[in-house]
Amino acid sequence: MVVNKEKYDYLIVGAGLFGSVFAHEAKKRGKTSLVIDKREHIGGNVYTENVDEINVHKYGAHIFHTNNKEIWDYVNSFVEFNRYTNSPVANYNGEIYNLPFNMNTFNKLWGVITPGEAKEKIALQKKNAGIENPKNLEEQAISLVGTDIYEKLIKGYTEKQWGRPATELPDFIIKRLPVRFTYDNNYFNDKYQGIPVGGYTKIIEKMLEGIEVELEVDFFEQREFYEEKAEKIVFTGMIDEFYNFQFGELEYRSLTFNSEKLNIPNYQGNAVVNYTDRETPYTRIIEHKHFEFGNQEATIITREYPSEWSKGQEPYYPINDDKNSLLYKKYKALADVEKNVVFGGRLATYKYYDMHQVIAAALTQVEKEFKNNV
Ligand code: FAD
Ligand code: UDP
Repeated sequence: MVVNKEKYDYLIVGAGLFGSVFAHEAKKRGKTSLVIDKREHIGGNVYTENVDEINVHKYGAHIFHTNNKEIWDYVNSFVEFNRYTNSPVANYNGEIYNLPFNMNTFNKLWGVITPGEAKEKIALQKKNAGIENPKNLEEQAISLVGTDIYEKLIKGYTEKQWGRPATELPDFIIKRLPVRFTYDNNYFNDKYQGIPVGGYTKIIEKMLEGIEVELEVDFFEQREFYEEKAEKIVFTGMIDEFYNFQFGELEYRSLTFNSEKLNIPNYQGNAVVNYTDRETPYTRIIEHKHFEFGNQEATIITREYPSEWSKGQEPYYPINDDKNSLLYKKYKALADVEKNVVFGGRLATYKYYDMHQVIAAALTQVEKEFKNNV
């Protein structure tokens, strides 16, 4: 095997958002990169595939949202975004509620009309539950929205999603969801929101224009060969794997996606429907065409099943409990003293990052990298 030492300035492991932003920015600064990915496509988890004129979100519903104008302008410089606003509905044993928790939800559940009435109802339920300083997801949820919403819209969904009782989960997971005392079904509070017209893959294609990409290559299967390919590595895979699991394995939640084409134009009337009861095995059904207001004759739906993760499966969600956070710190201490490896993205930093946060983190990393190195 011919080792082409120092052929590239960067070897980038992972053609997801972090790796692609980094490669793009490095190219702008005259640096060369080789991007490798073990999957058969670019884009990582934001990958969309065009099937029968419908852009299918292969790894679950992806809605871009941010408060940061710079990041919004950045993504819009690659593609145009539509005006999609995420307004999922919850299906609890056939009862339909609006999400996130807002006056529409409270009205349907309790018949209350004014914000004052809703607040009173929640305060009473919180008081009856005896919660003062919430210590876990269950207590946090009850203190935010009361026991009725917790039982119907949170408990079942959360326990399916995470495979453990809500009392054993950190409270910050539920703080991601807005609670609003207005009649507003927008799932996000951010100023900017939308879906790239033509799908997310287009953004990644643009970012990687003119950059060498090798697909279906697992870094760990030819580690020595690839390490010789560049001066520096940008690593966006699993940090524990990078260190040969020497302190033990970090845990994740995985997902299985089950897609189906239906010869009807409209299956569920919304892009995302959450199934919040404990018994339905999937957490949500996505109907992809609604992300782009499609009027195709057929439709494609995907059921999303949460599952335990074991080696070989896709690691989707880091589990940021105490045990895993401590373990991550040990790996991070090793990573912090690496001179020629940059760790970035959801897996290498073991963080629950949304797309805008990954892009911001990559741009910050780029700034740091090129401050003394232009
Ligand atoms: P990834 O996309 O995971 O990319 C890492 C890449 O590295 C992968 O392509 C992987 O194959 C490759 N790789 C790993 N190890 C190796 C190896 N050993 N060798 C070669 N290649 C390797 N964000 C939002 O903003 N809005 C949403 O609505 C939203 N919904 C989501 C829904 C789901 C179900 C999930 C799982 C995530 C969602 N996200 C959402 C988050 C979003 O997917 C991430 O922020 C983003 O994809 C992270 O990019 P990344 O580059 O860090 O990681
Ligand atoms: N959640 C819930 N019911 C819902 C939607 C979300 O209880 O109908 C909780 C659940 O614990 C989930 C968390 O809120 O893990 C964050 O939801 P989000 O939609 O942000 O999850 P993601 O899209 O990242 O999977």
